[in-house]
Amino acid sequence: MAKAKEDEGLGLRNMEQVNVSLVAKLVWRFLTNADATWVKLYNAKYLQSVSFWDCNPNPGDSKTWKDMLSVKEIFINNCCWSIGSGSKGMECGTSNASFSGESCGSNLKFNTHIQNICPLCHSEEGYVHHLLFSCQFSKAVFQESPLNIDIQDGVLSMEIIQQWLEKNDQGIMLNLGSCILWNIWKMRNDKVFNITQPLVPICIRKALEDFKFFDLHHALNFCSSAILQRQNSIQWNPPPPFYIKINVDAAYNNGRGAASAVARDSYGLHLGSGAFCFDSFSSTVAEAKAYGLGLQLARRLQFSKIIVEGDAEEIPKAIIGNMNDIPWNIRSTVLSIHDRVKDFSEVSFLVVPRDANSIAHDLVQFAISNFLNRWWVYDVPPNCIMQRLISNED
Ligand SMILES: [Zn+2]
Repeated sequence: MAKAKEDEGLGLRNMEQVNVSLVAKLVWRFLTNADATWVKLYNAKYLQSVSFWDCNPNPGDSKTWKDMLSVKEIFINNCCWSIGSGSKGMECGTSNASFSGESCGSNLKFNTHIQNICPLCHSEEGYVHHLLFSCQFSKAVFQESPLNIDIQDGVLSMEIIQQWLEKNDQGIMLNLGSCILWNIWKMRNDKVFNITQPLVPICIRKALEDFKFFDLHHALNFCSSAILQRQNSIQWNPPPPFYIKINVDAAYNNGRGAASAVARDSYGLHLGSGAFCFDSFSSTVAEAKAYGLGLQLARRLQFSKIIVEGDAEEIPKAIIGNMNDIPWNIRSTVLSIHDRVKDFSEVSFLVVPRDANSIAHDLVQFAISNFLNRWWVYDVPPNCIMQRLISNED
């Protein structure tokens, strides 16, 4: 009877499967609608001292509740983890361990059905909390990522995520943190199932890619207009948290030009650099290309809030100003920068004295005398700027 009509059955679906899927849907609604009255009732009745995942059926329980508990394994085996805040949610894949958090984190639950040897560091405390927060690998990822946080031993997962939720930063910390957790989890799975070596920089890069993808609606909504500011300090100043600052500079010599860009975060840490040489007919054109290079570097680094800092005021002026006023010799470069500004949620141009821009100056001088053409993205910085990086980190 349960065969499809084409197979000469009556087209009735397997009632047992239908029932399981209906109950599974009910469980899903139960887990995702904390505010519904029936959910509150069930919570009050059955889950006062235990989570859904740890709850076992009792003889006196209602039939519906027993049915719901009976499909728990399906969730444990098929759900991975999900974390969201209100309208923004993220749901991910299939695996045999799970970590599930409902919106606002108030009832974030960790499922710890996971083998207890950590595949990343081989320590014997490989539960989910260890894997995501206290494993050497995960700690390094959090520390070296743009979040730059030190996860202290002994802090509960819930407390960490609660802090992210409470950050008043439009959800950036929470979203980037979630992307990092998700990628640590994927690295773990890759190690277990594909025997791929987990690498901290790759984990960070992939998390940033996810973050950029996830954050895209922000970027599209903001669809920035850039602003121009001046600053007289002759010292380099780091950007505010969650922004990156890109110092740009150009060199010009006898028909040859070079441009450089150096990106650092709010801790002064080097995120990436680029240096390129080209034929050029004026120093102004070379300067314009340096600003274009700065935006390209920011895109490669997947950041959406950026400050581009340089000492050539006329270029950002032309980018911000009326399109008809752009000098003809830099018109095409400036127009393409104009287009690229739309890739970011916030762009500001900061004009500073030459001394505050010395890192980009050093790199461009090195580039023009050595015909350099390359990027250093999440990579060891070029040697010629090492000294300045170290002095700015202090
Ligand atoms: Zn570990």
